[in-house]
Amino acid sequence: MALSEFELIRRYFGAAGAAGAGMLRDDVVLGIGDDGAILRPPPGQDLVAVIDTVIEGVHFPIGSAAAAVGHRALAVNLSDIAAMGATPAWALLSLSLPQADEAWLQDFATGLGRLAGEHGVALVGGDTTCGALAVGIQLLGFVPANGGLRRSSGAPGDWVFVSGTPGDAAAGLAIEMGQAGPGGLDEAWLRDRFLYPTPRVALGGLLRELASACIDVSDGLAGDLGKLAAASGCGAELDVTRLPLSPALIRTVGAEQALERALNGGDDYELCFTIPDARLAEAEARLAGQPTPVRRIGRLVSGSDVKLQRAGAVTGSPHAGFDHFAR
Ligand code: ADP
Ligand code: MG
Repeated sequence: MALSEFELIRRYFGAAGAAGAGMLRDDVVLGIGDDGAILRPPPGQDLVAVIDTVIEGVHFPIGSAAAAVGHRALAVNLSDIAAMGATPAWALLSLSLPQADEAWLQDFATGLGRLAGEHGVALVGGDTTCGALAVGIQLLGFVPANGGLRRSSGAPGDWVFVSGTPGDAAAGLAIEMGQAGPGGLDEAWLRDRFLYPTPRVALGGLLRELASACIDVSDGLAGDLGKLAAASGCGAELDVTRLPLSPALIRTVGAEQALERALNGGDDYELCFTIPDARLAEAEARLAGQPTPVRRIGRLVSGSDVKLQRAGAVTGSPHAGFDHFAR
């Protein structure tokens, strides 16, 4: 590497670097520069820890824009933190790079730093190695003691909701991978839905007070709802006529393919959550007063598996979600 490892870390990830901008937190006793970070969790809070790695050619196409790689690597972790109902605080970055390309590093740090700043996340340490491009981020956050959301606490009769418009990112990835797109605004918008997902952190915080169970949708809505239902010891019914599909997705791939992408496409980073029937009216009122659109799409039922319904009639079972070791 032309740039020394030390200089690279200082320039791009230290307090003076782009990833340090606007994220100084007074609960960081000791940040980047020593053998370890010293962090002071707030009293009365539980620590929530998540980690996700994105690898070039596996999780994002080879040659993806560096800013998008930085954004997505943090966004996927913020999405897990959101699904736990937690407030994000501290990140550790494990970066493997084929070479110290300064323009690439600058854009990467800017993409990562911008999203970190929006969520008040401080980068407190990491590891830098030379190898195939891979970005692992460990993110730590807080919930009030015993207040974290889980997948496993849903019950039969709870209503199933989803945020945003699932399916867009899968269509955006297909366009990124070279599948012919429509061009124009829809194409650009769908690609951005893949490259720059919006983690639903504020929604997750509100759901801590409302939801019985929650999961983030990363591997396909149907499969991830199946995971929530299984963890809760339930089955689920999903009314496909209620799925929130974006106009851009329908215009681009048609109504049937849009449905397929919404059910089985990956990379949405939306939240799928359940609301007990007794709290439905209160929850719908409070959810209507926040900026992220959510829609009621089904219900947990006794039994197992996810069943698809079209206006009350069973139409079949969706495929399972993405599994790295399934093929
Ligand atoms: P050590 O050899 O003791 O593990 P390093 O030289 O790897 O230390 O790291 C020095 C400091 O820089 C540490 O505080 C570490 O957390 C931080 N660091 C290394 N790589 C990164 C990175 N990619 N992002 C943020 N901090 C990093
Ligand atoms: Mg050390």
